[in-house]
Amino acid sequence: MNLHEYQGKEILASFGVKVQRGIVAHNPQEAVAGAKQLTEETGTGWHVIKAQIHAGGRGKGGGVKLAKNLKEVEDIADQIIGMDLVTPQTSKEGKRVHQVLVAEDVYYPGPSETSEFYMSVLLDRSKGRNMIMYSTEGGMDIEEVAEKTPHLIFNEEVDPAIGLMPFQARRIAFNLGLSGNAFKEMVKFVSSLYTAYVKSDASLFEINPVLKTSDDKILAVDAKVTIDDNALYRHADYAEMRDLREEDPIEVEAKAAGLNFVNLDGNVGCMVNGAGLAMATMDLIKMAGGAPANFLDVGGTADAKRVETAFRIILKDTNVKAILVNIFGGIVRCDRVAQGIVDAYKNMGDAINVPIIVRLQGTNAEIAKELIDNSGLAVHSAIEFQEAADKVQEVLK
Ligand code: GDP
Ligand code: MN
Repeated sequence: MNLHEYQGKEILASFGVKVQRGIVAHNPQEAVAGAKQLTEETGTGWHVIKAQIHAGGRGKGGGVKLAKNLKEVEDIADQIIGMDLVTPQTSKEGKRVHQVLVAEDVYYPGPSETSEFYMSVLLDRSKGRNMIMYSTEGGMDIEEVAEKTPHLIFNEEVDPAIGLMPFQARRIAFNLGLSGNAFKEMVKFVSSLYTAYVKSDASLFEINPVLKTSDDKILAVDAKVTIDDNALYRHADYAEMRDLREEDPIEVEAKAAGLNFVNLDGNVGCMVNGAGLAMATMDLIKMAGGAPANFLDVGGTADAKRVETAFRIILKDTNVKAILVNIFGGIVRCDRVAQGIVDAYKNMGDAINVPIIVRLQGTNAEIAKELIDNSGLAVHSAIEFQEAADKVQEVLK
């Protein structure tokens, strides 16, 4: 689950990580009130107004702006809230901004007196260890740094059983070229950041930039936080932070129906049981000259109701030109799945407007094929994998 910057910062702050402080606002009046409150609490006169959407590169797209007085806070908030913000990480239509973060200006007395670093914490699956990735080249696109100056990106591997050792935190501060108070602050920052990462069950923290202020404070100016969905049952308060407006509406609906569904941009919808078979089916579609429109694992109980829900969700995508159903009947019998498909088809009538290819293999596969062939419906049945691929190719023509 991805979070907004303001939510990510809330989580960081709860573990003692220093962050650029801010208050979220849904309209210009709230923005002004937030700015006044921040001035009282921090003494700042200047504020940055930051669009809250699930995408980075907001600064480049005009979604992060400095306000030097309350009038500017109001005007900028008015301009950003409600806009469709286009950044290098959004589609060309952009993302609608529903709220802004009014934050204290931390680049005092001017940006040239500060330093921006990059830091992320993530899981290195190949090593089975956590990793802190960091760079002196903060504030910009890290992909670009990786491409042009890869020697400026450092990695610190952390054994999850031992945790981050003090010498590792010191090495990071040293490699970032810090000394004196800034060095000590960075050691604290990194240590609390790592603790926050582990305790919040995150799968990614990306802080770009981490800022060294002119008076040697180290703080998180931005926060991209991803929490492991499988751990959300341990964090009811984080689960409530989910902003469904930021997610693909079709995926949200599929999740509510208990389907494992990922929207993709191809033309062949798939309905499969089991994640492994679903992956293999996507390969099959590719080899047949199509492109998968989705990943969909219907799970173990492919009854008529579930099959119908799955068809409806797949068909919401107008790019879908054909649907391939590929089910292996192990515990679930093929004839029951076939009956489910026939029932769903009859129930949905005209709603199904693309050819359907059904491949059922396993228990009672032959009976299932007969059921479908005799149903009188425009469904192509297959038992062999290759047969199914050929039929996909045929209908795409
Ligand atoms: P992103 O563009 O979506 O990654 O958003 P960030 O939160 O990283 O902000 C983008 C840029 O805005 C930063 O790299 C800074 O240059 C600038 N910025 C952020 N906070 C402040 C601030 O307090 N004062 C000033 N002057 N600039 C800021
Ligand atoms: Mn950033």
